[in-house]
Amino acid sequence: MAESSNYDVIVVGTGVFGSWTAWHLAKRKQKVLVLDAYGAAHSRASSGGETRIIRMSYGRDEIYTRWSERSLAQWKELAASSGQQIFHQTGVLWMEGGETGRIKDSQATLHRCGIAHEMMDTAALSERYPQVNFEGVSRGLLEPWSGALLARRGVQTVMEEAKKAGVDFRIGQVVTPSGRGRLGSIAAASCGTFSAGQFVFACGPWLGKVFPELLGQRIFPTRQEVLFFGSPAGETRFLPGALPTWLFSDDEVYGMPDIESRGLKMARDTHGERVDPDTQSRIVSTEGAVWARNYVARRFPALKNAPIVETRVCQYENTSNGDFLIDRHPDMPNVWLAGGGSGHGFKHGPAFGEYLAGQICGEGHAESRFSLASKATVQQRAVY
Ligand SMILES: Cc1cc2nc3c(=O)[nH]c(=O)nc-3n(C[C@H](O)[C@H](O)[C@H](O)COP(=O)(O)OP(=O)(O)OC[C@H]3O[C@@H](n4cnc5c(N)ncnc54)[C@H](O)[C@@H]3O)c2cc1C
Repeated sequence: MAESSNYDVIVVGTGVFGSWTAWHLAKRKQKVLVLDAYGAAHSRASSGGETRIIRMSYGRDEIYTRWSERSLAQWKELAASSGQQIFHQTGVLWMEGGETGRIKDSQATLHRCGIAHEMMDTAALSERYPQVNFEGVSRGLLEPWSGALLARRGVQTVMEEAKKAGVDFRIGQVVTPSGRGRLGSIAAASCGTFSAGQFVFACGPWLGKVFPELLGQRIFPTRQEVLFFGSPAGETRFLPGALPTWLFSDDEVYGMPDIESRGLKMARDTHGERVDPDTQSRIVSTEGAVWARNYVARRFPALKNAPIVETRVCQYENTSNGDFLIDRHPDMPNVWLAGGGSGHGFKHGPAFGEYLAGQICGEGHAESRFSLASKATVQQRAVY
């Protein structure tokens, strides 16, 4: 089942990175085909959740602050042009107890980049958010203009816009390409064979399965559980506007207000066990549910007996230190490896796609932090 159509670029994967890359390529007048085994932001994809945080604070890692700022502008433009609600400006509050220095570093970076922020001590936090128990918190950094992205809706919207701009889309599982030198075509099971000048593999947590020898030990897919708690009837203190999106680095926990009435979201940011994204169980563990219940009861006393109204199980696709992977395949010069979102990549979809589309079209310099050579086989998390 050979296809005659010759594309400039074929993108494999319509998670947040593949979709935005296709969109930016289309804006550069490239003829693009996107292939995905299951569909855009499906339930097994890392991009398939309800919501994702978009914040500017990244300690000293200014490159991510700048990408986040650039991305937020593009998410908002997408929302405006599509008429879809994709962003909730809830504000993002990063809290710290001990002296890690991360908040101070973020404050300095935000200041240098001209991004609005507010430092608060415990007394100020308790006054502003009396529904929260700030036990163990010494300070908070509030980004009033940041917030939460509607993840699945955002990815599906950018794919729809990409299609309107001429991008073709097919469901099909792409077979691992073999050999050395320039790749001419790829095969997708029960779909066909497709040729192109360049190929992008934006396969998220599947990257290690698609390229087992090269990436099997360099991408670490870990199980991540997310829970939503229902407020008591008539309760408004956990709605956007009353409660910001929040992260508490000492406990490695984050959460969001009750967006679109799904309940207060909370999750642990620690890396779970290694999993296979095709087959891992999507049912939360009893241990995870008990832990989350206790945490919510302590932090938000009014939610002490709140029911769990929804759950999700997803996976991070971590690189060794949390930096993204955006580089050419070492044996196939027209094949690009794109991923390694590492639990913080979603927000950066637009800037990631813009950068990669630029690289493919020969624009701009390559950032060494995103190179394959910088990706180790032992995890040592450094980007948060
Ligand atoms: C619980 C959770 C919370 C998170 N929170 C945040 C957050 O608050 N803020 C933030 O910025 N980021 C967050 N992240 C990280 C972010 O969501 C991910 O880094 C990002 O979505 C990864 O996108 P991706 O496009 O690389 O992968 P995916 O979305 O997984 O997309 C990869 C696609 O490739 C396709 N594919 C794979 N192999 C093949 C093949 N052989 N043939 C065809 N198609 C194939 C898959 O079907 C899939 O659709 C979170 C992640 C999780 C799991």
